[in-house]
Amino acid sequence: MAFSSPRTTETTLPCDACGNTLLAERDCRKVILRCSVCGARYEVRAYASRMDAALERFLENLYCDRI
Ligand SMILES: [Zn+2]
Repeated sequence: MAFSSPRTTETTLPCDACGNTLLAERDCRKVILRCSVCGARYEVRAYASRMDAALERFLENLYCDRI
C-alpha cells in the first residue's frame, strides 16, 4: 500500500524539450515536473508563471499532508 497515495499527477504543462505533457512528482517535501517521454526534469519554479489547476491542487495537497 506504500504507493497508494497519489505521488504524481498529470498536468497540462508542456515539456520545454519535446512538448509532451509533464507529470508532477512528489519527492519528500519537494515537487518536480518530469517528462515521461524524454526524461527531462524541471523545478516547479521554472513553471511557476505557467502553473495549471492540476499542479496548483497537487501543491496544495502536498502542504496539507505535512504533519
Ligand atoms: Zn520531454
